[in-house]
Amino acid sequence: MDPVNAWGNTPLITIDPELHDLVEKEKRRQFRGIELIASENFTSFAVIEALGSPLTNKYSEGMPGNRYYGGNEFIDQIENLCRSRALQAYRLDSSNWGVNVQPYSGSPANFAVYTALLNPHDRIMGLDLPSGGHLTHGYYTANGKKISATSIYFESLPYKVDPKTGYIDYDKLEEKALDFRPKMLICGGSSYPRDWDYKRFREVADKCGALLLCDMAHISGLVAAQEAADPFEYCDIVTTTTHKSLRGPRSGMIFYRKGPKPAKKGQPEGAVYDFEDRISFAVFPALQGGPHNHQIGALAVGLKQAASPAFKAYAKQVRANAVAVGNYLMSKDYTIVTGGTENHLVLWDLRPLGLTGNKVEKLCDLCSITLNKNAVFGDSSALSPGGVRVGTPAMTSRGLLEKDFEQIAEFLHRAVTITLNIQKEHGKLLKDFNKGLENNKEIEQLKTDVEKFASSFDMPGFSVADMKYKD
Ligand SMILES: *Cc1c(COP(=O)(O)O)cnc(C)c1O
Repeated sequence: MDPVNAWGNTPLITIDPELHDLVEKEKRRQFRGIELIASENFTSFAVIEALGSPLTNKYSEGMPGNRYYGGNEFIDQIENLCRSRALQAYRLDSSNWGVNVQPYSGSPANFAVYTALLNPHDRIMGLDLPSGGHLTHGYYTANGKKISATSIYFESLPYKVDPKTGYIDYDKLEEKALDFRPKMLICGGSSYPRDWDYKRFREVADKCGALLLCDMAHISGLVAAQEAADPFEYCDIVTTTTHKSLRGPRSGMIFYRKGPKPAKKGQPEGAVYDFEDRISFAVFPALQGGPHNHQIGALAVGLKQAASPAFKAYAKQVRANAVAVGNYLMSKDYTIVTGGTENHLVLWDLRPLGLTGNKVEKLCDLCSITLNKNAVFGDSSALSPGGVRVGTPAMTSRGLLEKDFEQIAEFLHRAVTITLNIQKEHGKLLKDFNKGLENNKEIEQLKTDVEKFASSFDMPGFSVADMKYKD
């Protein structure tokens, strides 16, 4: 082969067998395991095709129709297609809402919003991380260590959930907000199993003169399918990731109001929103360089799929499956935060059992069940969270129904029972506990059962028949 083709058109398996083999191992892991991480999903073959396309080759700094480099005839069409589909997915009218689809992911999208609409050291208020919020909403530790860039560059004071009910304490939130007077109030989170009272957030934001941002990263698929309350009714800005319940490629979006502002006391007549230019300037040139056009193309595909009736059915099933898991676990007398769920996840409080989320996560990992330890409000130590988060979007994409999720909950029950037995026999200290994990027949049996169960379901995104490792 000539040098151009030898370098440029030889398949991965030949060029780099080592990386190819690792990809095949990861495919096997995804196919044979039960994926319960609430922020993950399995995207479609069409989305993966667009992600792996030559769109990745092009520089297109700027906005469609106004780029720094030439050659963007088709890239402009792709980004415009993506933007109009994004507005359609959320039933938004382009005369009063706009969208920027260039953020590389959810965290950069949030930082772009702060950069656009706040000054350094302005005050923000979001849900505390241990209450289910996200790092990018301004997390700092109890002893004041600033963890997120958001808390380094802005002054953040979080609101929290009620320790007794697990629901957001809206009265306390209002009291705090009126004292703190944040410039921006943030709703949305990463491990909150209930829907959000956007109307209440709007009232609080208006009382203290704050902008209202909703970060709907986790639930953007449910919002698109109208299986969750609509943040667009009340919020000024809405950010999201696109790879969670929305089932698209890994990316981010920022929606912003535009056009005339609704009439309000003390506001000059004819006032218009000025978010659009500030947000696009923050995304580029302030924070990012060239947009990732393969992501934007793939997102256009994902948004087209999300507009289909099949996606609506999917989102309904995601919720029904979460309810099924929660009910099954509660029927075994386990503690589920808020006593249930209204979205795609349940938060399982393990503290009444004397277990930590770490240990259960570790044991599940050994049995090919992937979930994550998660803080439960009131945890004494941030290092050993008292719960685990169980999400349904990924396995629902593999076609699982309520009865299948009851089977998954039964596997989880077995996993927790094994964890408890090991702790009883070997002790709570991690190094003693770890001894109990070695050559454990019950763990091996559970792993066998889990993998047999999981591999009986279809896999979106890639061909199981073509996998190098099937069992
Ligand atoms: C996942 C998540 C993000 C960040 O997304 P990345 O794509 O990982 O940067 C932001 N906000 C919330 C609420 C999230 O759950």
